[in-house]
Amino acid sequence: MSSVDTTIQLIRTGQADGATCAPELADGPWIFDSSPLPSYGPGASMGDVIPTGSPRQGQLPTEYQRASNDELHVRIRAAKATLGDRAVILGHFYQRDEVVQHADFLGDSFQLARAAQTAPNAEAIIFCGVHFMAETADILARDDQAVILPNLAAGCSMADMADIDSVTACWEQLEALYGTEPDAEGRVPVIPVTYMNSSAALKGFCGDHGGIVCTSSNAATVLEWAFQRGQRVLFFPDQHLGRNTAKAMGVPVELMPMWNPRKPLGGNTADDLDASKVILWHGFCSVHKRFTVDQIDRARAEFPGVRVIVHPECPMPVVDAADEYGSTDYIQKAVAAATEPSTFAIGTEINMVNRLAAEYPQHRIFCLDDVVCPCSTMYRIHPGYLAWVLEALVRGEVLNQITVPQDVAVPARIALERMLAARP
Ligand code: SF4
Repeated sequence: MSSVDTTIQLIRTGQADGATCAPELADGPWIFDSSPLPSYGPGASMGDVIPTGSPRQGQLPTEYQRASNDELHVRIRAAKATLGDRAVILGHFYQRDEVVQHADFLGDSFQLARAAQTAPNAEAIIFCGVHFMAETADILARDDQAVILPNLAAGCSMADMADIDSVTACWEQLEALYGTEPDAEGRVPVIPVTYMNSSAALKGFCGDHGGIVCTSSNAATVLEWAFQRGQRVLFFPDQHLGRNTAKAMGVPVELMPMWNPRKPLGGNTADDLDASKVILWHGFCSVHKRFTVDQIDRARAEFPGVRVIVHPECPMPVVDAADEYGSTDYIQKAVAAATEPSTFAIGTEINMVNRLAAEYPQHRIFCLDDVVCPCSTMYRIHPGYLAWVLEALVRGEVLNQITVPQDVAVPARIALERMLAARP
């Protein structure tokens, strides 16, 4: 199976059936680097606004823009060979194949941040993912290691939906409402829980306020931890992961009000907040929001017996209609564990789904959404940027370093350590 990049090129030139959400995906991401557009450029999150103050990428030198993919691959391999184990390249599951082929490790954000720790000689960690992932790698890295994000504009629109100022303002309103005194069982009024897909500042906020980080693999364990210590949870930024996880644990949906940061009390009444068990931040992933119950119905009609597996960032009706749901790690393991040839309809980012299809040709594996629409922020990493940062490293220059200040990194590490210590 060809890569998503190749498929988009073929669709654009009329040589392949199918549709893409944005034909501009076939262009180089550098076209959007200096764009005054307030959004992320083409792809699933193209309508999401980049917050003011988010890092923007300067123009990629033209020699990298003009180089063919073949030339870039040769240059990347040469730079990698020169650097040897002084540099480690990490590739996220949602990253394009053209970049992933150069990665030393492939995984989800937390697996990758930890994988970097297993490369003791690496002076540079090149994170082919998005901004919050590079921040987490920096929090966990040694002081003498530089974490590099090849394109600074590779943010995450979901992570950007909760910023430290809005969360702090929400917290102050909740404290004014609930006070800070624990109940008779010693549980404080509210525990903040942030999804890994959030800025370092929010992880630090959780560290400072008795809270914790979760991933999509351990969200239930983390919520259990939080309910032992708090009467309720403030969950950010992904409403869907919070709702799907808490619902599966038996929390009624009516006790999960949504917090809209633009409204007083998040758009809720004091009574609703008082009765709540989980307060959900008004955030979502634009990639996973594309999946629908209709798509599941169509897959079942066309392929009776199909196994539908979706990611918990999908909306609740989609998760409810699927056969199974779980993190990228869960999806990967579910496919790997299937002993008989099977049909899988998968609701997660298309680069990962296509890679699974190529890796397990004995199965029929397809993306629930038949429109080719990758994550627009992952799209910002292209072999041109990888070649650029690697060749700079060979010359002794560190470009695009992501550094989390110590006053944020220390409490963020506390929140991450609580997560690692939480047990089912
Ligand atoms: S897939 Fe969604 S959550 Fe993941 S990086 Fe892209 S926008 Fe962010």
